[in-house]
Amino acid sequence: MIEVRGLTKRFGGHTALRGVDLDVARGEVVVVIGPSGSGKSTLCRCLNRLETADEGEIRIDGEPLPAEGRALARLRADVGMVFQSFNLFQHRTVLQNLTLAPVRVRGVPRAEAEEHARGLLERVGIGDHAGKLPAQLSGGQQQRAAIARALAMRPKAMLFDEPTSALDPEMVGEVLDVMTGLAREGMTMVVVTHEMGFARKVADRVVFMADGEIVESGPPADFFAAPKSDRARDFLAKVL
Ligand code: ADP
Ligand code: MG
Repeated sequence: MIEVRGLTKRFGGHTALRGVDLDVARGEVVVVIGPSGSGKSTLCRCLNRLETADEGEIRIDGEPLPAEGRALARLRADVGMVFQSFNLFQHRTVLQNLTLAPVRVRGVPRAEAEEHARGLLERVGIGDHAGKLPAQLSGGQQQRAAIARALAMRPKAMLFDEPTSALDPEMVGEVLDVMTGLAREGMTMVVVTHEMGFARKVADRVVFMADGEIVESGPPADFFAAPKSDRARDFLAKVL
């Protein structure tokens, strides 16, 4: 579903990604971990073309990333992204947050978009809050709304960049539960997180990044029991 070859991204003189190769199969859940500044967010942002790669190739479902216009809008719909900060439209209701893009980008009839949106809000456990503004929801509820908003576009894959890092601790579980449910239903997912419990339980593969490179990658059982690189061992010693 996602193919990345030789992805290099520079910011001025700083190289944030150095020739990253990554394949994510349909239905696979890849958890990306690594120290701050290692390029995890930049990788996610390149996948969605929020950043433009300097070198390398990215294909989503076999198609190269479009550069602009309607094709780019469709790509962003196909690859849903959930950020640390919830990024909901603050002056729209929760329901409108879910229906705006499907109506505008996908051309879905409004009634159909609303019905789908209500189902998604039920599924993430905030069906009673459809008419509220985002500010009237807790952080955990807002993040679940943000996930539902991405799902409203019927994406082929979902990217999560530290989706629980800005949440109060008691709200982390409810968001991880929604993500776990999605994974079990077969969604293709790339998840940047420091939640090692989630990585252990839900990931098909853990990818460890440092200094703009993928240093190692493997099934979570192997990775956590016996990381191969010193950098991964050092990292795990700090976070576990
Ligand atoms: P991570 O998500 O793993 O913490 P990032 O992908 O955010 O890492 O950043 C990787 C490196 O690229 C860091 O050194 C960061 O400072 C740099 N970087 C990221 N975004 C920008 C930007 N827009 N401008 C300049 N430097 C950036
Ligand atoms: Mg980051």
